[in-house]
Amino acid sequence: MLEVKHHDGVQLTRGILSFLGDPLKACFYLVDGLMIDTGSRTMERDVVPLLEEVRIEQLVLTHFHEDHVGLSSWVAKAKGAEVFIHEDAVENTKKKINLPWYRRSSWGIPEPFASKPCPSVIETDNHRFTVIPTPGHTDDHVVFYEESRGWIFTGDMFVNATPVQWDPRESASETIDSLKKILSLDFDTVFCGHAGIRRNGKRLIQAKLDYLLNLQDKVWSLVQKGYSVRQINHSLFPKKPPSTYLTLGAWSSYHLVNSLYRSSVEQP
Ligand SMILES: [Zn+2]
Ligand SMILES: [Zn+2]
Repeated sequence: MLEVKHHDGVQLTRGILSFLGDPLKACFYLVDGLMIDTGSRTMERDVVPLLEEVRIEQLVLTHFHEDHVGLSSWVAKAKGAEVFIHEDAVENTKKKINLPWYRRSSWGIPEPFASKPCPSVIETDNHRFTVIPTPGHTDDHVVFYEESRGWIFTGDMFVNATPVQWDPRESASETIDSLKKILSLDFDTVFCGHAGIRRNGKRLIQAKLDYLLNLQDKVWSLVQKGYSVRQINHSLFPKKPPSTYLTLGAWSSYHLVNSLYRSSVEQP
């Protein structure tokens, strides 16, 4: 199922899937011949008829995750669009990737595609998007900032203000630095990879930063008391959501605590 909305000349398309009874949502955006992310391969049947009707000259990707790049191969071939991604991901886009079952069966496996390193600025007829590296969620994560309109396309940098589920490869300290970097910019509207279009975006980004800083303080004070990662996790997040069990612990508060724990141990 698809949900389509328009805001100030930007088209939001949100694909909604069902996975083990829970809704899964991923968004992509179209503005002025530019596509930002693509949704997942499992959205192909719904999304392709919509894309056939629109102009796409360039595709930019916030990061190399299957819910953001899944239809890149189709867009490159069918629309002849140039595809840009962080330079560290360019080689990976050419390869067939393996994914754990819960990611494979929910989002699908992207077809390989050719891409080019993202330049520092992406221009369209009417807009200028500054590309800002924002590591944390992944090393290759970037956001796209349209200063004159106060827009920021944030991929998976925001998603929600109080994350509990965390992937073992995500870095909490880098996420904190990236959120601080973004807060130094002037913007109002966040175009999120999952939560859609959100006004008062600075307040949202600040809320996530505050949450992580607060959590960091709590973790660090328990580290001082000699708690282990497991003990801190149990103390701060005593309840485990079903997805932690379903992913065999891959999406877990343990990884969030562990990431904050490691950054506290590495403090000078
Ligand atoms: Zn992601
Ligand atoms: Zn995502």
